[in-house]
Amino acid sequence: MSPGSETWEGGARLTLLDPLRAEPARTAILTDVDGTLAPIVERPEQAAVPARASELLEKLSERFGMVGCISGRRAEEARRLVGVDRISYAGNHGLELLLPGDEAPRLDPSLQGREEGAAEFVAALGDEALAGAGLRLEDKGPIQALHWRGAGAERAARARAHEIAAGAGRAGLEPHWGRKVLELRPVGGGGKDSAVAALLATDGVTAAIYAGDDRTDLDAFCRLRQLCDQGELESAVCVGITSPEAPPELAEKSDLRVDGPGGWLAILEALAE
Ligand SMILES: [Mg+2]
Repeated sequence: MSPGSETWEGGARLTLLDPLRAEPARTAILTDVDGTLAPIVERPEQAAVPARASELLEKLSERFGMVGCISGRRAEEARRLVGVDRISYAGNHGLELLLPGDEAPRLDPSLQGREEGAAEFVAALGDEALAGAGLRLEDKGPIQALHWRGAGAERAARARAHEIAAGAGRAGLEPHWGRKVLELRPVGGGGKDSAVAALLATDGVTAAIYAGDDRTDLDAFCRLRQLCDQGELESAVCVGITSPEAPPELAEKSDLRVDGPGGWLAILEALAE
């Protein structure tokens, strides 16, 4: 547990938020989407962001220096799901950036020439073989995701995912594990850490709060703390969204823990007051 880490049950005043509320124009509010704004559901296409969460993000964007969503989904998909056009989106774990007014996402330039690598690797595995192993393919362009949530035999599907991850590593892709999902990504590009850095490149932002529910969000926590150590930020608050599926490190590395997307919604309400 990090020093000063606390769990918020709601109601009590949160002094951790004081520096953020004191200077909203210099503060960034950054949030993961699935499991953080939107409750986790069996199939990602059924996920929904509560209307109140979208309203709050819109309202906060009028007063705060930057409001951004960082998602493993494609950036346009994240914007469709959240439904707020005037905020920023870093999608595909930071490989795509969609700023307010952008019609199409900007791809991480370091990807050039390697956009198709993951799709080609997965195509060679064969659609039928994947389905037979209980793995559902999600085509995210430069990233390919294999899901086994809700598979008839989840353990067998996960075991097959581990074999595929080993092969992907040998093929020069980076395997990343999430909540019942294996993602195959091009080596070196993206990461929620680089997504945070890209969004915080906004002029004049000196404080930030970030919320996430999964292992990939720890990269964002880590980058925020680095930015504080380097003096680029004066303060940062890392919020862990707890759930029975959350990795144990998440609670250990959070400044503040809240229960599920409802807990994060309450923090957004407090920031909007
Ligand atoms: Mg998440």
